[in-house]
Amino acid sequence: MSLEKQCLEKGMRMTEQRRIIARVLESSKDHPDVEELYGRAVKIDDNISIATVYRTVKLFEDSGIIERHDFRDGRSRYETVPEEHHDHLIDLRSGKVIEFNNEKIEKLQEIIARELGYQLIDHRLELYGVPLHDEKPNSNQKDS
Ligand SMILES: [Zn+2]
Repeated sequence: MSLEKQCLEKGMRMTEQRRIIARVLESSKDHPDVEELYGRAVKIDDNISIATVYRTVKLFEDSGIIERHDFRDGRSRYETVPEEHHDHLIDLRSGKVIEFNNEKIEKLQEIIARELGYQLIDHRLELYGVPLHDEKPNSNQKDS
């Protein structure tokens, strides 16, 4: 279901600017922060202010239709609530966010919770890493 439709189902009043922000959020696959969202929204409607983006994102978050992430870089980043669960790996060098889903981890977390006497309801898993292999643009290739 589109974000806009979800908003309407929640009884939200959808102004043109909110529609634009919803569309920008939906088409962003890179977990943007408010400033990045603003940069994209303002290209569509240059009357949109960053304050409007802040307020709208907060509204969407409070309604549970988008998720906020804090990947330790001091920025809140957003994504639409995914249909299928995924976790995140954050590349500390480039800031790139990689999504993954691992059955073994999912099962293991349930086992851990159960052993502690709990039924697992939700979890968040973030991995932080640097690339194993650096891509050096000027590396000399050996000629044979
Ligand atoms: Zn994600």
